[in-house]
Amino acid sequence: MAQHSQALDLEEALAAIRARVSQSTVQVTCPIDESLGRVVAKPVAAALALPPFPASAMDGYAVRQEDVDSAKPFALTQVGTSLAGHPFAGTVIRGQCVRIFTGAPLPEGADLVILQENVIATHQQLVSFQPHTSLDTHVRAIGNDIDQGEIVVDAGELVTPFLLGHLAAAGIHQVPVCAEIRVGIFSSGDELRDPATPVEELRYGEIYDANRLTLMQLLKNLPVQCIDLGCLPDDPDIVNTALHDAANKCDVLLTSGGVSVGDADFIVQQIQRQGELEFWRLNLKPGKPLAFGRINDCWIFGLPGNPVSTIITALLLVRPTIGHLAGMKSAAPLRLTAVLATPVHHSPGRTEFQRGHFAALDDGFSVSHTGEQGSNRFSSFRHANCLIEIDKDQGDLQAGAVVTILPLTNLLH
Ligand code: AMP
Ligand code: MG
Repeated sequence: MAQHSQALDLEEALAAIRARVSQSTVQVTCPIDESLGRVVAKPVAAALALPPFPASAMDGYAVRQEDVDSAKPFALTQVGTSLAGHPFAGTVIRGQCVRIFTGAPLPEGADLVILQENVIATHQQLVSFQPHTSLDTHVRAIGNDIDQGEIVVDAGELVTPFLLGHLAAAGIHQVPVCAEIRVGIFSSGDELRDPATPVEELRYGEIYDANRLTLMQLLKNLPVQCIDLGCLPDDPDIVNTALHDAANKCDVLLTSGGVSVGDADFIVQQIQRQGELEFWRLNLKPGKPLAFGRINDCWIFGLPGNPVSTIITALLLVRPTIGHLAGMKSAAPLRLTAVLATPVHHSPGRTEFQRGHFAALDDGFSVSHTGEQGSNRFSSFRHANCLIEIDKDQGDLQAGAVVTILPLTNLLH
């Protein structure tokens, strides 16, 4: 259902997107060493137990529990050595021990490892130990980390370096993953020049196109293929053709600029003309003019042109949408509370996300805004490590007020 006229709150917009956008069902198999950052498409079970054999957790001596004495020193005869990768082949019988190292298989017959620090002396084959009082066997049982057939990862999880290591250890060589999302990125505006243009070639009134590059970087760690579609002039026919062609080869299209009510703002018109517009205004600051809709099977975000608005809407709306489309489990961004170190000006009306810098206190966090918050000012991100969320009904806030903050590292994660 299109909701053209009504401005939506951020949560309403996210819910509307979630209700309309279905997750991709296309699965592919990915070699493990290429799977970092991909979304797992179905649960993956361990091909073997970890460890696959009872293993020593320490350097020491493998012994039989019945041979140890907790009251006085005792001695055992060393009959061999078990190294990682070189197990002791025999069986430890009563009165015997085997020198053992971390990760080495526990020899048959042994059920306890005595730490080498607890050895009093070795004389030829005879090893004498201090009285044994430890309750820990220092033995990792088969499947101590994970059992054979146990699920290592569920569908919808991202492959992290930790997961990748776990999959490798559990004998998984190929990972079933969701297909990457093809994201086409346009800028729009007659005033924009490619960032490679020398400064002296910029004519009066022209600026560099910063948003296209920024958007590509903001999507970097999502499972996407970014397609750079260049910069569109403020010409309805060219915009029309470009959107039509791009919609045929992309799953998602991002444009920035050209979504407000100025005469040269064509993106909204073109989405309406060629497809379906879901909404195009948010109760969000920065980020009020934001068009969302589709042309055929391609979802389109017409993001506002002011760079800060582009970035904030990319973080709060575009990234979660692409993650959802790509099969990722949804996770609300991390919200912390912090005490304002500086007053904050806010007129009720729209929920605002100011750029802030938070720091740890003994008992929580403090946060300051980063200065003038104009939506054209990239400088407002200088030293910023969080967004300060100010509710739409809130007025000015004094220093000492408790506010909600969203760490940027989490929003980029
Ligand atoms: P618009 O929504 O097209 O009116 O753009 C709003 C403001 O954002 C204008 O000042 C534009 O010059 C600026 N802007 C639009 N696109 C970009 C871009 N790709 N890079 C930098 N600034 C932009
Ligand atoms: Mg424009």
